[in-house]
Amino acid sequence: MSLNWPVAGVPAKMLQNMLTSGRLAHAYLFLGPEGAGMRETALHFAKAILCEQTGERRPCGSCVHCRRVDSGNHPDLAWLEPNGQTIKIQQIRDIQKSFALKSLEAVRKVYIVTHAEQMTPEAANALLKFLEEPSTPVVAILIARQKSSLLPTVISRCQIVPFDRIDPASIQRALQADGVPAGKARLLSYVKESIGSARKFSEHEKFAEIANLVVQLSEEIQSKRGNPLFLIQDKIHKPGWAFDDVGSFLDCLAWWYRDLLNAKLDLTDRIVYESQMSRIQSQAASYRVEDLVQMVEIVLSTKKRLQSHANQQLALEHMVLRLQGE
Ligand SMILES: [Zn+2]
Repeated sequence: MSLNWPVAGVPAKMLQNMLTSGRLAHAYLFLGPEGAGMRETALHFAKAILCEQTGERRPCGSCVHCRRVDSGNHPDLAWLEPNGQTIKIQQIRDIQKSFALKSLEAVRKVYIVTHAEQMTPEAANALLKFLEEPSTPVVAILIARQKSSLLPTVISRCQIVPFDRIDPASIQRALQADGVPAGKARLLSYVKESIGSARKFSEHEKFAEIANLVVQLSEEIQSKRGNPLFLIQDKIHKPGWAFDDVGSFLDCLAWWYRDLLNAKLDLTDRIVYESQMSRIQSQAASYRVEDLVQMVEIVLSTKKRLQSHANQQLALEHMVLRLQGE
């Protein structure tokens, strides 16, 4: 686990200042778009709050508290997520009960509430009440996309920490800090929209298989040799392929065709699949710009169709036929 803050800039700076000054608020509201790194930052902040070394800009990474947070089972850290459509008052009560029972004797306890806009008013009030009369100091980190969907009483009690959509260069830096090679980190930073999902995909056993399949499929489609329909059937329609794997494959394929477009337009510094430069140049030579624009669209619309529960095999076969210009 990296000791660096997952997201550089305003959020990290604000939270570091609060840690070093020792003046922690009772509640923080992380506001920003999906993929801005709010969950990862909340976890890192929680770790720093629980860490034995107080007053530092970041967690030490090695004390018992840091290690328990990393392994996902620190008894004084609770994640609160919607149960169905909402976060209910009973979920708050359950956590209060478990905080009372188990403790690692951390100085504080931390709640991370994801999708805070989905708290029922009763749940929100119970949480606020708990924060105001704590038997043990508690810090709540609420994560939400928009201020407007939250109760004014919640907003007024929180220190707001604003997040922006994270740029690919920051994702790439974070992955490289974890030891991911530069070329792979660059591809991941474009294919996935958050550090968390990029990191997860980089550790996924299927990453290499997916990346190879993109190259092989695009070769067969461009050269009109081989049998791309068979390739899809042979590689993807297997029990080991989860729905998310197919989604990741389509994300990677869309970037492949964007790269061909970049190559076609002489924007080679924008190419994401850097290690495949010569193959990209040679494939790009056989398409027109408008073909490639269309091909990116075909792949993205296939992903959308799968998300709305289209038949996977038919959707992928249809995609291949359209990519072949049939
Ligand atoms: Zn520590």
